[in-house]
Amino acid sequence: MTTIALAVERAAGDDLSIWPGSTTRLPHGHLAVGGVDLTEIAERFGTPAYVLDQGEVRERCRTYRSAFRDTEVLYAAKAFLSRAMVRWMEEEGLGLDVCSAGELELAVTAGFPADRIVLHGNAKSPHDLDAALRLGVGRIVIDSLSEIPRLAAAVGRNGSQKVMIRIVPGITAGGHTKIRTGTDDQKFGLSLTDGQAHQAIARVLGQPQLELTGLHCHIGSQISDVEPYIVAARRMVGLMAQVRDTHGVVLAELDMGGGHGIAYRPGEAALDVTALARGLRAELSESCAAAGLPVPHLIIEPGRAVAGPAGVALYRVLAVKRTGERTFIAVDGGMSDNPRPALYGVRYAPRLIGRHSTAEACTATVVGRHCEAGDILAADIELPGDIRPGDLLAVPVAGAYQLSMASGYNLVGRPPVVAVDEGRARLLVRRETLDDFRARDVGL
Ligand SMILES: *Cc1c(COP(=O)(O)O)cnc(C)c1O
Repeated sequence: MTTIALAVERAAGDDLSIWPGSTTRLPHGHLAVGGVDLTEIAERFGTPAYVLDQGEVRERCRTYRSAFRDTEVLYAAKAFLSRAMVRWMEEEGLGLDVCSAGELELAVTAGFPADRIVLHGNAKSPHDLDAALRLGVGRIVIDSLSEIPRLAAAVGRNGSQKVMIRIVPGITAGGHTKIRTGTDDQKFGLSLTDGQAHQAIARVLGQPQLELTGLHCHIGSQISDVEPYIVAARRMVGLMAQVRDTHGVVLAELDMGGGHGIAYRPGEAALDVTALARGLRAELSESCAAAGLPVPHLIIEPGRAVAGPAGVALYRVLAVKRTGERTFIAVDGGMSDNPRPALYGVRYAPRLIGRHSTAEACTATVVGRHCEAGDILAADIELPGDIRPGDLLAVPVAGAYQLSMASGYNLVGRPPVVAVDEGRARLLVRRETLDDFRARDVGL
């Protein structure tokens, strides 16, 4: 494409900076991801559909592995999990962070080594713990005092289980209060300020069948600055020094969680993974040296930043409504495949695909099809003024916390997931149908 054509595309709001790296423009307003025309995917698999660029997922894993050498990188499965995803993580040398027996069993039955899996959860059910012990999960992250005797009993006197303890380091960070998990006024972890963290450490050390390998913290999500991680790391090393002074125990591992921010719309900030790696390494060597501690084995747990930018959601326009000043463009999906706008008020950057429009841009609000006024994908964005029913809209950065949080609302059915790679598309997860709903509905 010529520079002038590029400039024209940019001016028309056609910025592909947040799309998968493989995205290319085709003639007539078509776009390809992973070498596959998105319009063809919509026709072959129907809409709504989720496209996952396998190469982009792998590339993101590699970016983490090369920025964080000597660090264990665990993919946070709750962002999006399928058997293919499990396989890619295995092949790219990542571990997994899971928070239920379901995620754990899916991963292990897809061939993922259980010893590279860490189990989280503020309220693990007996079923979760049974599955973890039965499958031989690598580490269990303790998140409450009552969990300690429960886990110790389940492990048994002759058993042994590696554990970490989730600490609340007292850091405010993250894109929204519902995803801030580093402060004292939320449900996760054990607080440094009220003594619960110290109590938990003492109790775990008093249980011979629980082997405390280190401490964990996860300060929030959608964090775009390195600084909160640095402050958290410093506090965690401070606590590790106290553990040594009080108990004579030098903890070997430090898990700094995930929460790495990504851009959902062009121009939004994303966390610089390389800067985070550099910053954490510098902070750990400095504060460990000051405390006279060896630098712990570092673990990180990115979820969103691995899967999010690799996904694209495809919707078909069902209705266009002009009321007063506003234009509403309603698509055939919405909060049942992506509850994030309704939960956190986040907004996306949908784009017309499949035809080239010369119409003047208009300001429009893209909404879903569900019976909730908060079912809004994008508010007040620029789209061609001639958008009509039948058009295709593509939403980039759709790979994380959308399908994994999808629901059966309005019995619309959850969309399929289609992997694209080197010009080929293949179905990973099929569409949910009325038969699926009927099969579960067993009473009358
Ligand atoms: C959700 C979660 C993550 C991943 O968070 P992202 O924002 O997706 O990177 C990592 N660790 C824990 C404990 C989590 O709960």
